[in-house]
Amino acid sequence: MKPAFIPRLINHPFGDPGLYVELRYLGQALLFDLGRIDRRPATSLFKLHHVFVSHTHMDHFIGFDHLLRLFLARERDLHLYGPPGFIENVRGRLAGYTWNLIESYPLQLTVHEIGPQRVRSVALPARTAFTPEQESERPFDGVILDEPDYQVRTAHLDHKIPSMGFALEEKTRLNVRPERLDALGVPAGRWLNELKRAVREQRDPDTEIVAEWRSEGETHRRAFQLGALRDDLLVETAGQKLAYVVDTIFTRDNMQRICELVQGADILFCESLFLDAERDEATKRHHLTARQAGTLARAAGVKRLENFHFSSRYERNPAPFRAEAQAAFRGDLAADVPD
Ligand SMILES: [Zn+2]
Ligand SMILES: [Zn+2]
Repeated sequence: MKPAFIPRLINHPFGDPGLYVELRYLGQALLFDLGRIDRRPATSLFKLHHVFVSHTHMDHFIGFDHLLRLFLARERDLHLYGPPGFIENVRGRLAGYTWNLIESYPLQLTVHEIGPQRVRSVALPARTAFTPEQESERPFDGVILDEPDYQVRTAHLDHKIPSMGFALEEKTRLNVRPERLDALGVPAGRWLNELKRAVREQRDPDTEIVAEWRSEGETHRRAFQLGALRDDLLVETAGQKLAYVVDTIFTRDNMQRICELVQGADILFCESLFLDAERDEATKRHHLTARQAGTLARAAGVKRLENFHFSSRYERNPAPFRAEAQAAFRGDLAADVPD
C-alpha cells in the first residue's frame, strides 16, 4: 500500500537540518525545522500549513524570512510551533523589518509556544503589521496538532536549552477489501470516503450510508447500514509513523524521553553531529554521536534510522556517520551507555 507520508530532508546531511513531509492524500505538507529552504521549489513550500521548529539556533530557524516572504501576500493561516520563548523569537524576526502598505494582506501567522505545562498561542495578522491578538493558552499533553488523519506529538529534549523532538503519526488506516466490494456489486467512489469518515467518528452503527454511482447514463443509489458495511468491507491497519530528533544530549533522562516519543517509528530522522571518537565533544556541546543515534534507534525499536546533521569538520564525507550509526542500530557495535 502506498505510504501516506513522503519524507525528504531539505538539505544534504552537512547542510541545515529540516524534514519536509508530503501528506500524499491531503495535497499538503509539513515541515520540521526551518533551516535554509531557499533551494526548495516555491510550489512545494506553498503546500505548508504547519511548520514545527525544534529550537531557534540559527541553522534551524534561518529559513523563517524566506517562508514569510513567500507567504506574505497569500491568503493563508500559517501555523508555527516551537519551544519556550518562541513567540518572542518570531516577533523579534518580524520586528527587524518595516511593515506598512500591507493592510490588505490576508496572511495570518499563528504561533504556538510549547511550554512544559502549557501551550501559548497567539495570532499575528499581516493586516495589523503583525500586532498580536487572540492570545490563548491550553494545557500541554504531548499532542500539538490533532487532525482527522494524523497527529503530531512532541517532547522537550535537553540541548542545554529545550529542543523539541517530534513524532508524526498517521491514524489507523481503513482499507477496503476489494473482493467484498465486488461481492456487493457497488463500484468504489466518494461514498467510501464518507463511510471511512463515519467509522472514524464512531457514528451510530445504524447510520445510513448511501452509495451513489452512475452507469449507462443513469444514477443509482443503494443505502446500507454503517455497522454492517464496516464489518464486511473494512480492515483496520496501523498507520505510518515518522520521528524527528535533533540537537540533544545523550543522557539517561533524555534517552527515555526520546524512546517514548519515537517508539516503533517507521523512520527515525536523528541528528549526529559527531562520531564516537569525539564523544566528549558531543557531550560538551549537547549533541549526539552517530553511535548514540544508532543506540537510541535500536532501543526505541524503530524500523529504519536516517542520521543526518553532520559536523562540517568531517570533510563532507557522510560514509563514516552512516556506517557507525547503522552498526549500533543493528547491534554490531555495542550500545553506548549514558553517563
Ligand atoms: Zn543544529
Ligand atoms: Zn542547536
